Amino acid sequence: MVIMDAYSPNKETSLLAASALPRPPDQFTVLVVDDDPDVVEVLSFFVARDGYQVLKAYDGDEALRAVQAHRPDLVLLDVRMPGADGYAVCRCVKANPKMASIPVVLVTNVKGLGNEVAGLDAGADDYLNKPVNNVELSARVRALLRTKGLYDELEAQKDHLEDAVRERTAQLQEALEKLKGLDRLKTEIINNVSHELRTPLTQVKNAVDLIEGCTSPDEMSALVTAAKSASVRLERLVKNITELGAGLNMNFEPVAVADLIYQAIVAMRASRPMNGVQIEAVLEDDLPPVRADRMGLVRVLQHLLDNAIKFSPSGGKIEVIARRRDAGSVWIAVRDHGIGIPETELDNIFEQFYQVDGSTTRAYGGTGIGLAIVKLIVEGHGARVEVASKQGQGSTFSFSLPAITDS
Ligand code: ADP
Repeated sequence: MVIMDAYSPNKETSLLAASALPRPPDQFTVLVVDDDPDVVEVLSFFVARDGYQVLKAYDGDEALRAVQAHRPDLVLLDVRMPGADGYAVCRCVKANPKMASIPVVLVTNVKGLGNEVAGLDAGADDYLNKPVNNVELSARVRALLRTKGLYDELEAQKDHLEDAVRERTAQLQEALEKLKGLDRLKTEIINNVSHELRTPLTQVKNAVDLIEGCTSPDEMSALVTAAKSASVRLERLVKNITELGAGLNMNFEPVAVADLIYQAIVAMRASRPMNGVQIEAVLEDDLPPVRADRMGLVRVLQHLLDNAIKFSPSGGKIEVIARRRDAGSVWIAVRDHGIGIPETELDNIFEQFYQVDGSTTRAYGGTGIGLAIVKLIVEGHGARVEVASKQGQGSTFSFSLPAITDS
């Protein structure tokens, strides 16, 4: 049995020891291994007296199992044991990357350079000779636990950093995908725009060329009308394309839904012939404000109203509806009772420059950009444009926006 030196209590040293550790002593666990139960008890007593948690093992195999199961913060390991001796246990611990950071102190009663070299070869971190001096034991354990505690902190920070880097990388990847998407959209717009602008431009140019050599007043008047209508289309195209670009810059604020709807209706009445079509606002009382880009949403409603008027019969009726969808959102819809949209076309109509079947809707004029702008702006609000339509009966375009509530 190991004989310990008499313990001389030194409160100050022990307080200092505790304060030098990066975490409280009871958050460290020390595994004491010896085939002599008396030695285990004595060493455990001193380890516990310094405030650490203690685990005990009585041979090499039991020690290895305890290390694997409990991951102690330090192992006090007897060298000479039947079965796996201290060197073998130490080698196993140090060979496993998940356990290699656990400091191992070999406790031996065999003095001599050969033993120390064998211990160091096995990867031991320190040595204690039997009989173990309790002050030396306390100091060595404390020094190694301090290093182990700092190592644990570093590992935790490393994990935290790795998580943060992973999260940031995912965010950057997402932003990159978004940018790529915007870039594709830009290229698509540029390609489509040049194609779409060319047609009315050529029409204007041809009409003007023909006017030069024209002698008949009727023919000249027809050419001027053609040039005018092509230039109106050009003007509308340029306005919509500019809006498509502006749709990407949004400024969010609390917006009163009723104001928004009336603003869009008034602007609509002022900007185009109504063809006898009536617009009615159907608004639920006490609607909460929504978080939105005011100008963007007025544009959305204007485009939806413009289509609703365009595809309604003369004297038809349009409703602009706003009501609570649930506690957290407001549903806004524009409903007409016009020509409707074939079901097979519902997915296509939001594409830029797309118009349903030339023979019907091309006759109504337009640029095929309106719904692309609507989609861009509504999606910029984190929402989706829904469309419900039946040919010959009419269409309802709608979306929901987050409400700003008091709670
Ligand atoms: P346009 O300037 O041609 O109206 P939009 O992008 O606004 O372009 O609409 C695309 C197409 O979707 C229209 O040409 C039309 O075929 C169809 N559409 C849009 N709104 C309606 C509606 N309210 N009723 C019927 N068809 C519609």
